[in-house]
Amino acid sequence: MYIKTQEISHPLLEENEIRLFIKRIDLIDYFVSGNKYYKLKYNLLEAEKQKVSTILTFGGAFSNHIAATAFAAKQKGYKSIGIIRGEDTIPLNDTLSFAKEHGMELNYISREEYRQKYTDTFITNLQQKLGNFHIIPEGGTNKFAVKGTSEILDENDTQNYICTAIGTGGTISGIINSSSDNQKVLGFPALKGSEDLEKGIRSWSNKQNWKLITDYHFGGYAKISEELIQFIMDFYHKQNIPLDAVYTGKMMFGIFDLIQSDFFPKGSSILAIHTGGLQGNKGMNTRFNLNLPHNL
Ligand SMILES: *Cc1c(COP(=O)(O)O)cnc(C)c1O
Repeated sequence: MYIKTQEISHPLLEENEIRLFIKRIDLIDYFVSGNKYYKLKYNLLEAEKQKVSTILTFGGAFSNHIAATAFAAKQKGYKSIGIIRGEDTIPLNDTLSFAKEHGMELNYISREEYRQKYTDTFITNLQQKLGNFHIIPEGGTNKFAVKGTSEILDENDTQNYICTAIGTGGTISGIINSSSDNQKVLGFPALKGSEDLEKGIRSWSNKQNWKLITDYHFGGYAKISEELIQFIMDFYHKQNIPLDAVYTGKMMFGIFDLIQSDFFPKGSSILAIHTGGLQGNKGMNTRFNLNLPHNL
């Protein structure tokens, strides 16, 4: 599969003698965009192996994973069920109406129930109600996902630094596993609090050549600021590359900020992974009256 990598040009990069590339895995599939394509790949193959015809997964109302799973499941002929945290709202938001239009059956559960979602009782109840299914956890991270995300890097990706946004850690884990020891993998968490995240990553990967950069969550998951939105719009106009406001926009903001503060030695090359997520911008636009680029 051919995946485009683009070099970014910017005066700050020239000044600091740094080369910055962006790997456009967001372009792999219009809807099953970015890292979610890799995270779903072996999950769908596993469902086929297990001969189950239903994919069941979990997520919040704006989840990229929910949107991607709905589309990918339909594309491959599976039924999909999304267990959604929180109340049924009318009208459905952009993410959920997309999922529903692509055949996902939406089941809403309370936040309290949602916390119990991986207990045996809860799963057994679901099976009794809904029949047999292949279960994918919230955010899509499991061993099949990490196998998939280890295919994001290939032999051409020889930069000194690899940067990726982080939610659950499945994507960075696969990237770490396929990086070479002389590369450093930098993860930019979109959530506050990174201790569980570090533990999680260590459970998927034994390598040490990675580090979390925890200063660019902008107050937490899906929190935004005017400065961030300005950065994303500016990047879009100057580079013609759309970034999402939850993950890739924060990562790219962080990369530029780190360059400015001399984090990277002169002569470094950086590869940023564009993990996608652009469907989420539509919901952001609706909620905050913005004009971010999106793909819905
Ligand atoms: C889901 C998502 C991530 C986070 O991936 P994890 O494997 O959960 O860390 C990063 N970027 C985008 C655009 C995403 O949609």
